[in-house]
Amino acid sequence: MTVDLADLDVPGPTETALTQPFWAAVEEGRLVIQRCGACGEAVFYPRAVCPHCWADALAWEEARGQGRLKSFSEIWKPGHSGWIPATPYLVGLVELAEGPTMLSHILSGGQEVYVGAPLVFAPTRIGRRVLPCFKIKQD
Ligand SMILES: [Zn+2]
Repeated sequence: MTVDLADLDVPGPTETALTQPFWAAVEEGRLVIQRCGACGEAVFYPRAVCPHCWADALAWEEARGQGRLKSFSEIWKPGHSGWIPATPYLVGLVELAEGPTMLSHILSGGQEVYVGAPLVFAPTRIGRRVLPCFKIKQD
């Protein structure tokens, strides 16, 4: 990918009252997830009730910003034409250190990308928004 991602003309994420704290944190370069005050499980994506115990006790907390690549795909035909200059790019399932899985852009940075690769949070300006990308963790 040779394009500057900040120059892409792509639609940003859709915010709701439920997801607004997540996107506000990402805009500040932070990753937050929810944790259930009743059963202690970490939760992502943002929800109103815990999917593990159905308690109405989810609260936001800072995530460690570390994970492992569960699966990934190289995108050659994006769903929106604004992404065409960035093709091919990688999208992957990130298993966060806290447990939940997050779909994210994977920035290879010239590194080998493989299932099981250690990842770190890499907030990146793409178009008009900062998106919660991940990159291969350097040792
Ligand atoms: Zn719970």
